[in-house]
Order: sequence, then structure tokens, then C-alpha cells
Amino acid sequence: MTQTTAPQVTEPVAHVLVGGSTHPAPLAPVVNPALTSETVGWTAMGTETDADLAVRTAHHAFAAWSALTPAERGAYLEDAAAALDPTGEERARLLVREQGKVLWEARMETGRVGDMLRYYSSLAEEVAAEKVTVDARGTLRVRRRPMGVTAIIVPWNAPVYLAFLAVAPALVAGNTIVVKPSELAPLALTETLTTLATVLPEGVVNVVPGDGAVVGAALSAHPLVRKVLFTGSTATGQAVMRAAAGTVKNIGLELGGNDPAIVLESARITDQLIGELVKGVYTGTGQICFNVKRIYVHESRYREFLDAFTAAVDEIVVGPGLHPEATMGPLNNEPQLRRVEELVERARAGGADVATLGRKLDPETWGSGYFLLPSVVSGLPDDAELVRCEQFGPTVPVLPFRDEDDVVDRANDTEFGLAASLWTEDVDHAFDLSRRIESGTVFVNVHRLGASDITMPFGGMKRSGIGRNHGIVAIEGCTEMQVVAHRVDHERLPGPHLYGQEGS
Ligand code: NDP
Repeated sequence: MTQTTAPQVTEPVAHVLVGGSTHPAPLAPVVNPALTSETVGWTAMGTETDADLAVRTAHHAFAAWSALTPAERGAYLEDAAAALDPTGEERARLLVREQGKVLWEARMETGRVGDMLRYYSSLAEEVAAEKVTVDARGTLRVRRRPMGVTAIIVPWNAPVYLAFLAVAPALVAGNTIVVKPSELAPLALTETLTTLATVLPEGVVNVVPGDGAVVGAALSAHPLVRKVLFTGSTATGQAVMRAAAGTVKNIGLELGGNDPAIVLESARITDQLIGELVKGVYTGTGQICFNVKRIYVHESRYREFLDAFTAAVDEIVVGPGLHPEATMGPLNNEPQLRRVEELVERARAGGADVATLGRKLDPETWGSGYFLLPSVVSGLPDDAELVRCEQFGPTVPVLPFRDEDDVVDRANDTEFGLAASLWTEDVDHAFDLSRRIESGTVFVNVHRLGASDITMPFGGMKRSGIGRNHGIVAIEGCTEMQVVAHRVDHERLPGPHLYGQEGS
């Protein structure tokens, strides 16, 4: 349902924000995944024209913003952090109502924005650093310079956190930005960006909510956009690559995953191991890119693991994210709910053993939201759909293995390569084995939200992405390397002699 005129609303609106001003656009409702009859707020459905205006505005603002020193830009980010800190709790509650996650997870997102801005501000000196080499050949300067307008396209699963992983390094590096939130969770992010935009110079931060196939595609193809930082599914990442090819844009892709966790023979099945793996699978209702998506357990530990794991998953309480007793919220949207339900049903129909676990917090209102009980699936072959795809939901296949070489092959036998984990008492062995795992991150005895932080490079191999995020690597990804070469050794330079000296 899209309205052509602004409804009389008191709910929050994710507006088109260009040059510090909101622009009128048709609005669509944003519903609460825990109570789908509730409209939490409204999202502008921006157009290609809005995207174009936002890009031109960001392009205009680029000259002055990029001319500031990184330290001056960092000071702006610190001011923005101070403005955002007091409103983190309010935005966390809004995020729960639009996205579905439980409150502590939402607090982790909104509460960390200020710290992220301050952290990237602290890296300003490294952005400014110029490497100068003087020798008999002359002087060589190698520096980093901003790219220009950067489009940031964001998914619905962790919209605030994932957006700011791109926003903060892009800004401190000297780029101006246009952000495209997901239609399914645009509110807390747009509020956060609106505060940021009021602190920064006009036109540096712009936001165009709307349909990805319209706004996202327009940004990916726009000739004045020099970099696209995209986080989302592999299929959409491929569409972004194709659109960006027309103007040979630089792109950063953070895409999907099918992360394996391998519980080795040398592991002990302790409460800690089980607790960590439960968090690894079910945090975010399974909707986190680097959640554990498959668990391989050495056959000597398999039964013990399965019993302890299913018992722990059975403790999960599913309900609205704002309810203090709920430990897992609903899925974010109906297509995702149906997709995961159907995956589990097909596994069951194919002969797998599906343990449906956990407790419904309120059976009366269960059908009013996109709720799904967590499940654990065993008895699946390696080629089963649930083993091979990214389920992005609260279910996981558990598979036994006998031979370590074999399980490494099985773990690597996927188009994805985001993260993986090894579980063992023999950490040195895990370090050795990690060399054979095809993933951007290999965790040891951990694999969950919070285990990777912004000081650790993060990103995927294979179809899980291009480039690395977090820290100085993220800043480098938002800059072009420039070389200034002053050569004084002309006589010694190899190459053609076009006149005069030839043969002399
Ligand atoms: P999507 O790929 O469906 O959407 C991501 C964003 O792209 C949305 O804003 C969407 O807009 C937009 N979009 C849609 N079509 C286009 C297009 N043609 N051109 C440009 N942009 C477009 O992903 P989801 O939102 O469903 O997120 C889930 C996926 O994201 C999972 O695969 C997950 O693994 C991955 N992910 C990866 C992470 C990583 O760091 N590697 C982190 C988090 C998630 P619209 O609002 O219309 O949907």
C-alpha cells in the first residue's frame, strides 16, 4: 500500500533527505513484525529523480568536505556522536518495533553508533598520512584521497549498525554520501542519519529511502557516484555489480553466507560451547550474515552434542522483542518467514529429523506476527537444500563427520565464504586447520554477533563479497591511492628516445 499524499501521521517517517531538507514523496507503511496490524511508521518511496538530486547535492558538497583535513572531519563525527548518544535507547525501541529483534540486540546497534563515529574519528591521522620516499631517483609521495559521492545500500537485518560501518569510514575519508535504507526497516536508520546530517555541513549526508529496484539501481548506475558500498544478498550484489560496470565504479560488497561450524574430535561438549553455538545460530532470529548456518560434529561427539544442543535451544522463548521475557523475536517479514518454514518442511518431507523447540511467549497472539519456533534438523544428506543454502532463519542442520580432511572439503563445498568456526581444546591445531578453510574470517571457539568488532577486518571470499570492512581497511576502501612522482634521474630512465640522443 503506497499513499500519494502524506497521511496525517504521528508515527515516525523515513523521509527523503537532501541537502538537509526533507522532500515530499509517496509514503508506504512500515509494519511491526511482532504485530503486523500495527503501523510503526512510514517510509518515503523515493524515485530516480530523488536519487539523482541527492547524488548531485552530495557531489556539490564534496569539494568543501574533501578539502577539510581528516582531523576536521573527525571533529564533526565526534560532535555527531555526542548528539546521538542521548537518543540511543529511544532509537533501539523503534528498531525493535520495525525490525523485530529483541531489545538487547537493538541496543547493541543504536548504542554503538556514537562509539563507531568516535573510533573512525580516531583514525583520522592515518587517513592524512602521506608516505614520502626521497632517493637518487627523486621524490615519491603516496597518499590516499577521497573518491567522491559514495552510495551506501543497506539491508533490513541490522540496518543501523551495518549502515554506519560504511557511513563512518566513508565520511572520515572525505566522501559525501547518499544512503538507501531497506524499505523493511528504514526508520531508526533514517532518524540517526537525520541527526548526523544536521551536525555535518549541508549536503554531506543524504538519504533516499525507497524500492531497491528503483533507488538502489539508480544509485548503482549514476555517473557521479564513484563508490557503492552494498550490504545484502548475493543476488542483489550481482545486480549492483552489473549496474556499476557501466561507469566502472569502485564497489564494496558484503553479501550472504553459509557459515560452517566444525566441532572437532578434540572439542569438549561444555555448557560454554553449547551456549556459544546457540547464540551463533539463533541471535537475530538467525538473520545475521555470519550466523552459523551448518554445524558439523565429529562422530565421537555427535550424540552428546545433539542432545545438549537441542536441550539448550529448547530454552528459547519466542515473542515480541520489547517483551522482557522474549529471547528471540519474529522474522522480519512474511516472505522470509514462509521461506524458512518451507525449507524446514521440505527437509522434514525428505526424511530429516526436525526437532521443533522453544516456547511461544503468548500462544494467543502468535499468529499476529511473523513468529517461528527454533528448530534443529538432523539426518540430512550434504546435498540437502537446507545444508546448501543460506537459510537466514532460526533453524540449523547438524551433520556428523569422521575424517577431518573430509569435513574441510564439505565445509568449503559452497559458493559462499563469509565466516567459519573451529571448536576444539587444541587451539594450535585450529590455527593450522584454519589455513585450509575458504572464508574471510575463521573463528576459534566462538562464532556469533559480538565476536567480530570494528578493529578486525571483515568480509567474504567467493560469492560472499568483495573487499574488507572495519577499521583502517574500511577507510582505505573508501579512498583512491594517488602517487606523485618527481623524478630527477631522467638520463637513467629506460624507455624510447624520440629525438636527439638516439645512438649518441
Ligand atoms: P537484499 O539484497 O534483498 O537488499 C539489500 C538492499 O538492496 C535493500 O536496501 C534493497 O532494497 C536493495 N536493493 C534491492 N534491489 C536492488 C537493486 N537492483 N539495486 C540496488 N539495490 C537493491 O538483502 P536483504 O535486505 O534481504 O538482506 C539479507 C541479505 O543480506 C542476506 O543474504 C545476508 O546474508 C546479507 N547480509 C550480508 C552482510 C555482510 O556483512 N556480509 C551483513 C548483513 C546482511 P529494498 O528495500 O527494496 O529491499
